[in-house]
Amino acid sequence: MNIKSNYKYLLSDLTALKGVGVKTTNLLKKKNINNLFDLLWKLPKSYTDRSLSSKIKDLKIGENQTVTVTPQKYLFPRIRNLPNRVICSDDSGKLDCVFFNSYEGYVKKILPLGKEITISGKISYFKNKYQLTNPKYISEDSSIIKQVHNQYSLTEGISEKVYNKIIDQIISELPELDEWHSNQIVEKFGNLSWNNSIVELHKPENIGKYRDNFYQRLAYDEIFSTFLVNSEIRKKIKKIKKKRKKINFNLQNNLINKLSFSLTNDQVNSLKEINKDLSTSTKMFRLLQGDVGSGKTIIALLSAYNTINSGYQVAFMAPTEILARQHYNLAKEIFPASKKIELISGKSDYKNKKIILEKLKNNKIDIIFGTHAIFQKKVSYKKLGLIIIDEQHKFGVNQRKKLSDKGGDDCDVLLMTATPIPRTLTMTMYGDMDLSIIKEKPKSRKPIKTYSKLESKIDDVLKFIKKEINSGNQIFWVCPLIEESKKLDHTSAVNKFEFLKKLFPNQVLLLHGKTEINEKEKILNNFQKNKFQILVSTTIIEVGIDFPNANVIIIENANKFGLSQLHQLRGRVGRGDKDSTCILMFKSNLSENAKKRINILKQSNDGFFISEEDMKIRGFGDLLGFKQSGIKNFKLADPVHNSDLFLLAEKEIKRIEQTNEDISKFKPLIKLYDRADIINDIA
Ligand code: ADP
Ligand code: MG
Repeated sequence: MNIKSNYKYLLSDLTALKGVGVKTTNLLKKKNINNLFDLLWKLPKSYTDRSLSSKIKDLKIGENQTVTVTPQKYLFPRIRNLPNRVICSDDSGKLDCVFFNSYEGYVKKILPLGKEITISGKISYFKNKYQLTNPKYISEDSSIIKQVHNQYSLTEGISEKVYNKIIDQIISELPELDEWHSNQIVEKFGNLSWNNSIVELHKPENIGKYRDNFYQRLAYDEIFSTFLVNSEIRKKIKKIKKKRKKINFNLQNNLINKLSFSLTNDQVNSLKEINKDLSTSTKMFRLLQGDVGSGKTIIALLSAYNTINSGYQVAFMAPTEILARQHYNLAKEIFPASKKIELISGKSDYKNKKIILEKLKNNKIDIIFGTHAIFQKKVSYKKLGLIIIDEQHKFGVNQRKKLSDKGGDDCDVLLMTATPIPRTLTMTMYGDMDLSIIKEKPKSRKPIKTYSKLESKIDDVLKFIKKEINSGNQIFWVCPLIEESKKLDHTSAVNKFEFLKKLFPNQVLLLHGKTEINEKEKILNNFQKNKFQILVSTTIIEVGIDFPNANVIIIENANKFGLSQLHQLRGRVGRGDKDSTCILMFKSNLSENAKKRINILKQSNDGFFISEEDMKIRGFGDLLGFKQSGIKNFKLADPVHNSDLFLLAEKEIKRIEQTNEDISKFKPLIKLYDRADIINDIA
C-alpha cells in the first residue's frame, strides 16, 4: 500500500519532504515540530499578493510587486561590501536587481542574461532608477510564482519561501483518510472532511475565520480525541479486577458520631460513592473535587478508615510535609488508638525511616502519611489497599496513569483537588477518572468579606488587625517572594516580618519555602496554639493548611496572582464559624483587569464560578499551573470560545460509551493527535 494514502505518512519524519534537509529539520525540531502532522499547525499569519504583475514603468514603490524582466548586464564591483547588481529591463523601462552578500556564480545562475525571468519583491527607487533588493521569488516560468504567499512567524530561522514550499507540499500530498465521525457529527460541520478542513485552514483568505466549519471541525477533532483517550483509560482501569473490600458501617458511623460537626450532604454522598467503589470488584480511580474548605480531608480519612478495617493498608500522600503532618495529626486525633499510624518526613532520621519501612513491609502499619517519598522504589507494602493523594491538580494524565498502576490491582486510588475547574474542562482534565464533587460548604461558614487597599493605606490595615487580634483572632500575611529582588517588584516576606515585628512584638512569625522543616513545624505549631497572632509567609500556605482560628488574610501585591490563586489563598480563612476578612493589597492604582478580578472575588465565594471567570480573563493555560500538567496541547480548540464543541464532544463520548461502539475507526485520529501516547494497543 502506498504510504501516502495512510495516516502514518503524516507521522513521518520531516525529511520525507523534498528539499528539507538536516538543517531545516533541526530548526523545526527546536520548535517542537517533529513530523509532517506537527507542521500542519504552523499557520500563516498574513499573506502577500504577488499576482500584480506589471510593467516596470507601473511599479509601485514600497510595495511587493511581481514583474517579468530580461537581465541585460552584470555589475560585479571589485570592492567588498558593495552589492552585486544586475541591470534588467522590459519594453517600458529599467530595473536594477541588487544582491547583498551573494556570489557572482549564484547571481549569474538565477538571472541569466537575455532570458525572460519573473521576479518578485519589494520595489524601491534609488538614483532615478527602480530597484529590487534581494528578490524573493525568481523563476523562468512566471506561472510558478504563486499568486499569493503566506507569511509565517519566522523566529525559527526558516524563510517564508521554505515554509510556503514545504507546507504546500504536505497539503498537496495529504492522505485521504476515512471519515471517523458519525454522519450527524460531520453534518454539523458542513460535511467537511478532515482533509478538506486542513486545506481550508491553510488558505490565506481563511486566516482568522474561527467560526467557519473547517476550523470548528478541526477544533472538535482535537477535543474529541482528548476525551476519547481519557475515556479509554477509564475503561481500561475499570476492567481491572480486584478483591472487594468489606465496609464496616458500624465502625465508620462511630467515628462520624465522634466528630464535632455533622457531615454535609455532599460529603455524605461522596463517601457513599467511594465506599461503593471500595466494595466492588473493579479498581477505583476516583477524584474528589471540592472547593477550598469544603471538607475533603475528613472524607478521605473515613475512606482510609474503612479500608483499614477491611484488612488493608493505606498510603496518604500530600504535596508538602506541612500538609502531610497536618493530616497525620488529624488521623492520630480521630482514629482509635489501636490503629497504627505513621509519618515519613524528610527529617525522619535514617534509623527511624528504616524501622518504618520494615513495618510497612510486614503490615505493622495501617496508614502512612508523607510526601511523594512514600512511593519511592524502596518503599514496599504488604497489603496496600488504598492510595490517597491530596491536592494533585498539577498532575497530568500520564502521571496519574502511572499512579493508578502503583500498589497493584487490589489497590484503589482516590485523588483530591481543591481546584474547581470550568465545566468545559472537566472531561479534558479529569475524563480518565470518576468524579465526586463537594459543592456545598459546611453550614456554619460565613462568606469571607473581601476588600482591596492601596499599600499606602497600610495604616488602616494595621488598625484593623490590631482590633482583630484584641478579639482573639489570628492573621495570615502573604507576600509573593522570600527576599527583595531587584528584578521583580515583589514585597518580601522577610521585610514585612521585620516591619510587623516592631509593631506587634512577640506576636509575629515568619514562614517561607526556605525555612528548615523542623523550624517550620515549630512555627506552625506555635501559630496553631495561638502563641503568636500573625503569620507572615510566602504562598507556601496556599495549599491545604487548615487553621480555623485564623480569620484574616492580607495578600500583598495581589495583582501578581490570578483569580483562582487568590481564591485558594483566601480559602485559608473562613474555615471556622467566625466572620472573616480578606484584604487584597495593591501597589498602585488598579488596572481595569485588576478591578474586574476584585469585583469577582467580592461577588463570589464559589470556586467553580471563579474558575470560569479566571479562564475568561487569562485563558486556560494559565489557570493554576495547568501548563505544567502537560495537558495544554490544544492547537486550535479554546475552552472559552469553543465551549459548545467541548459539550458536544462530551455528549458524543457518552453515547459511544453507552452503546459500546467499536472505536477502531478512530485509530488514525488518536494516533495523530494523542501526544501523550497513552493508547498503544488500541484496536
Ligand atoms: P479542604 O476540602 O479544603 O481540604 P478541609 O478538609 O481541610 O478542607 O476542611 C476544612 C475545615 O472544615 C476543617 O477544619 C474541617 O475540620 C472542617 N470541616 C470539615 N467538614 C465539616 C463539616 N461538615 N462541618 C463543619 N466543619 C467541617
Ligand atoms: Mg485539603
